[in-house]
Amino acid sequence: MELKNLTISQVHNGLKNKEFTAKALVKGFLSYIKKEDAKVHAYLSTTEKLALEQAEKVDEKIAAGLKIGPLEGVPCAIKDNILVEGEKCIAASKILANYVAPYDATVIRKLKSAGVIFLGKTNMDEFAMGSSTENSAYGATKNPNDLERVPGGSSGGSAAAVAADECVFSLGSDTGGSIRQPASFCGVVGFKPTYGAVSRYGVMAMASSLDQIGPLAKNVADCKMVFDAIKGKDTRDATSANPPAPLLKGGLKGVNNLKIGIPKEYFAKGLNKEVEKLVSAAIGKLTALGAKIVEISLPYSEYALACYYIIMASEVSANLARFDGIKYGTSAISDKQSALSGLLDVYLQSRGQYLGAEARRRIMLGTYSLSSGYYDAYYLRAQKVRTRIADDFKKAFAGVDLIMTPVAPTTAFKIGEKINDPVTMYLSDIYTVPVNLAGVPALSMPCGKIGKLPVGLQIIGPHFSEDLIFRVAQTIEDAMRF
Ligand code: GLN
Repeated sequence: MELKNLTISQVHNGLKNKEFTAKALVKGFLSYIKKEDAKVHAYLSTTEKLALEQAEKVDEKIAAGLKIGPLEGVPCAIKDNILVEGEKCIAASKILANYVAPYDATVIRKLKSAGVIFLGKTNMDEFAMGSSTENSAYGATKNPNDLERVPGGSSGGSAAAVAADECVFSLGSDTGGSIRQPASFCGVVGFKPTYGAVSRYGVMAMASSLDQIGPLAKNVADCKMVFDAIKGKDTRDATSANPPAPLLKGGLKGVNNLKIGIPKEYFAKGLNKEVEKLVSAAIGKLTALGAKIVEISLPYSEYALACYYIIMASEVSANLARFDGIKYGTSAISDKQSALSGLLDVYLQSRGQYLGAEARRRIMLGTYSLSSGYYDAYYLRAQKVRTRIADDFKKAFAGVDLIMTPVAPTTAFKIGEKINDPVTMYLSDIYTVPVNLAGVPALSMPCGKIGKLPVGLQIIGPHFSEDLIFRVAQTIEDAMRF
């Protein structure tokens, strides 16, 4: 049996039936990572010592005849902006080159108590800013389906690690599409929960009103299982919440009469024709089972990217202010080459040298839109547009159960193709960004390939409709097998 391409339930059964030990599994993954990751570069660091200690505990439990939980002994990878106590956490930035996490993020604490094993930390765009993982200060990750192409971003390492069988599942973060777009480019399932459904405590803040942590996995069931393990209200994140009440009380079984909204603005100019065909074919599988298609309109989507790039950058400029070379971050003081003339110079040189170009670009844009005289014209206006975008979704969900769209307008692009043109790069998030602005949940799942490149279908639901999304995604996954 190939240990490395197992799903969560296969790992669970294998451990339970003593077909392999957790230690053998971890060792197998670690040696495979050594070989495979020389090509893919999904990981920034591995956490070998921790992984082996955790595996030993699981093996002792099994040897003692005790029952293990469904996630116990399952090896995963964690995006490097999520804190794992005692391990390096550098968010792919030079300014955090030597940072070691002093505590566990809430999601990590939850996974640890479920017995999950941590193999390592994955590559990403610096501080999660980007759509291709090329903004990592430690070199780009490659798409395992085609090594000349990007894996998407910013959770490109987490998506590539799952796609290359270098872990069973991973965690990513999604501020404007960073779980869903790489999942789509790499051909795995990725989920962005409702804003607040998962605690953000211990994830490095990019844009706090948009950030969510979520899982990437090989199939829908695995993705759901991980989401269920990390969700829930946390006193350390005031924006976290438990779902109000189950939205569906058993009424809607299967997909018969399920109403699927197709936003006309998303199936328009700019969408690759072959991507459109595959997405429509996947939706067609549901109509064959009795679901109904309803054309809807999300008219303010047109302004979503502009709105996102004001709000996100404003929050970035505030959140990244702490990396000043004094309070946090690599300091120019330790660099013998720089001649420093005072405190301001320490700030300027530390931030100038150790933050990458994209981070500095966004800090400047955000500081500008928050500054007096421009605040009303940019930040305040963007907040008003954000409300309109959220209203678009609210109105749409009054008439439909779910909305389905492509995840991205194209398949994975070539490394280097868009890196010098930020606006073209930003366009790859056109279908994912509105979801974060509205705070609703959305899943990205594979719906076919063009050549060797995967295409993703996006399923968007109302706030806290995760159960419905997973159930319908499972139906599609099953139907696609035939
Ligand atoms: N690609 C988007 C950006 O560059 C989204 C990033 C994210 O979701 N973290 O901002």
